[in-house]
Amino acid sequence: ERERLTRLRHTPAITMDGQKVELLANIEMPEDAAGAIKAGAVGVGLFRSEFLFMGRTGKLPDEEEQYQAYRRAVEGMRGLPVTIRTVDIGADKPLDKSQKDGTSLNPALGLRAIRWSLNDPAMFLTQLRAILRAAAHGQVNLLIPMLAHASEIRQTLSLIDFARAELDNRGVPYGPVKLGAMIEIPAAALMLKLFLKHFDFLSIGTNDLIQYTLAIDRADEAVAHLYDPLHPAVLRLVADTIAECNAQGKGVSVCGEMAGDASHTRLLLGLGLRSFSMHPAQILAVKQEVLRSDTSRLQPWAQRVIESDDPASVLSA
Ligand code: PEP
Ligand code: MG
Repeated sequence: ERERLTRLRHTPAITMDGQKVELLANIEMPEDAAGAIKAGAVGVGLFRSEFLFMGRTGKLPDEEEQYQAYRRAVEGMRGLPVTIRTVDIGADKPLDKSQKDGTSLNPALGLRAIRWSLNDPAMFLTQLRAILRAAAHGQVNLLIPMLAHASEIRQTLSLIDFARAELDNRGVPYGPVKLGAMIEIPAAALMLKLFLKHFDFLSIGTNDLIQYTLAIDRADEAVAHLYDPLHPAVLRLVADTIAECNAQGKGVSVCGEMAGDASHTRLLLGLGLRSFSMHPAQILAVKQEVLRSDTSRLQPWAQRVIESDDPASVLSA
């Protein structure tokens, strides 16, 4: 059994009908790259950079410290692509005790992720420069969390340009990056045309997309029974995002928990998803599902699932 699993680790994830599927790792620290490689990931689909910022007393990591950390992740992945997400601080990932005990009644709806970054452009520019510099050492994708407004997209893109100009002025080398946006607020999933005009790829954050679509706090046990990845409204937003990206030839992946849950693999394949990012420990189980899937049969079935009032019952039928 152990040998079989080791063999599976090096088996490419290809469906029975020959569709190539990309299984990527979610990581929190540069050192996690080793585990991602070991699990057979073909890249990092989500490096949650906020973990470099959390739980520190005093100063945030400066450009040099961040650059070294991102560079370690990139080098640790040995030439495979690494998607670095700018900080998603706030709500369930407070920077420190004062933010945790802050006065916001709804931190998940508050100053979080890109909102927090745009609120402190000097800090954001520091991170952007560090990521661009790490891109000189390998294939880096730059991913922005929690965008919902056209004005946030505009500000973000102009700060990225500004970060490049600063590095040019300093004569510091940096590399090219593909630019991506998280689709994790329903408003974003309803404005795909705008997002696809500005970004090279999209990454669906189902953890937050479910939370915000259903108004269910993802961390509140009292409503956990209502937190439903298979709610028809959630599936509609996920399906539309995948379909629109595929139609325009843009990259799309799912990096929320849903991507690592093997019981959802066939549905996502049927909806046209070919890139999944998850905790490294989940890669083998998802790969097993991929290897025994036939997407030509899954596609019409997935359409029936998302058109149903009760998708879970069609799934288990
Ligand atoms: C998500 O929201 O699905 C996601 C991947 O981001 P995080 O869990 O870090 O909020
Ligand atoms: Mg999220």
